[in-house]
Amino acid sequence: MSDIGGKSVALIRGNAEYQEASLEPTPEILSLWEKVHSDMRQEFGEAIFRSWLKPLTLQAFYHGTMEISVPTRFMRDWIQTHYADRILVMCSEANPEIKKLQIVVIQNAIVDEEPDTAAVKTLTKANENRKSEIAEISSPLDERFKFETFVVGKPNALAHAAARRVVESMSVPFNPLFIYGGVGLGKTHLMHAIAHAIEEHWPEKTVMYLSAEKFMYQFVRAIRSDSTMNFKEQFRSVDVLMIDDIQFISGKESTQEEFFHTFNALVDQNKQIVISADKAPGDLAGLDERLRSRLAWGLVADIHPTTYDLRLGILQTKRAQLGAEVPDSVLEFLALKVTSNVRELEGALNRIVAHADVSRQVITLESTQDVLQDLLRAHDRRITIDEIQRKVAEHYNLRITDMHSARRARNVARPRQVAMYLAKQLTARSLPEIGRKFGGRDHTTVMHAVRKIEELMEEDAQIAQDVDIVRRALTG
Ligand code: ADP
Ligand code: MG
Repeated sequence: MSDIGGKSVALIRGNAEYQEASLEPTPEILSLWEKVHSDMRQEFGEAIFRSWLKPLTLQAFYHGTMEISVPTRFMRDWIQTHYADRILVMCSEANPEIKKLQIVVIQNAIVDEEPDTAAVKTLTKANENRKSEIAEISSPLDERFKFETFVVGKPNALAHAAARRVVESMSVPFNPLFIYGGVGLGKTHLMHAIAHAIEEHWPEKTVMYLSAEKFMYQFVRAIRSDSTMNFKEQFRSVDVLMIDDIQFISGKESTQEEFFHTFNALVDQNKQIVISADKAPGDLAGLDERLRSRLAWGLVADIHPTTYDLRLGILQTKRAQLGAEVPDSVLEFLALKVTSNVRELEGALNRIVAHADVSRQVITLESTQDVLQDLLRAHDRRITIDEIQRKVAEHYNLRITDMHSARRARNVARPRQVAMYLAKQLTARSLPEIGRKFGGRDHTTVMHAVRKIEELMEEDAQIAQDVDIVRRALTG
């Protein structure tokens, strides 16, 4: 038996398939594999290469299949989902005959390095105990918040790249990683994604994830029950500590003090810390100066407000996840209108999908506008009553002063009512406020106008169309 890739094929001698000489890789295939191996190092970087790709060993080559071995089943699964496609492309670029990558588990491939199993078992047990203790304090992770479901765009690219680095590095790349940004922009999603990926990627590591609020709660409880030593020990024994929404401990001095010591103890042991907040470290009022400067030591990554492109990308991803039939025009409309944050954007999509489900109707631009009326109105604050009056006057060929005047002729009064109706629909103004803008009219007049137009829109197609045209001119 020959020696391939440094590991003896004799170990798998039991398997008749391998005894066929023709299965053994030719020298060309071996050198191709060597090249691909070094290309992987180039492409994926030293850290990933060393922890995941270096152990890949070429075992056999047959009918266009490269058979590669790894030492554990866990590794096989990880490589299968993360790297196999790319590795196959590299192989078939080097030799088009290669059509398939088969990853097999060959345990203890290196016999003389066989570990002392008893010792390993004891260690594993101790680690498991520690992990389950930590799991009790940690907050549960949301299964939906993973890297796979996080859409990357310009506003969050830095935070995302930094989060990935934390997961993919063998060592601690920067400490702490501090992620900040406004509400609903994906901070918690990224934190959970890191925690999920570390658990998957480095199952032996203990990750503690919790909100600053829960940290404080645990701390206070430990003081009450006289178990602060235990508290300290637990927090200092983790490999990765993640605290979400650190701004919560602003002004809470003893909690900050405790956190500061935990932070330092972990940094000294070279353990990774990840923090999120709604502001940059320097802008966190009510936080001790020492702690603030400590928080800015590592990498500070901000998540900016979303852009149209990112919002559209997120909607497309969510649509696929929901498996719902939502026209592109509706996604574009939402991306344009719901600009506040991702949580609201998601909420809007969920609402129209749920509505379509229940009412058994297809989703259209019209139904969307209908279902989301209140939300859209809230996002249309920039539409003013002056604008509405201008557009309505334009549409009906009137003067703007007709909107305020006391003239009651139908050809003036009706458009005025349309304008009042639109003011109620498209702005957040109250009836009295609207009345004032229309020449100091009473709120009951406005209410009457709103009802009247609603009624007319049902029975008079011309009015319905007029309203629609003006509305589009205002919101489009
Ligand atoms: P934050 O913690 O910053 O307030 P979250 O992480 O809770 O915000 O995000 C709010 C919602 O928006 C979550 O459902 C999250 O999955 C979603 N979300 C935020 N950013 C993204 C993104 N880039 N891709 C996919 N979903 C996102
Ligand atoms: Mg959050």
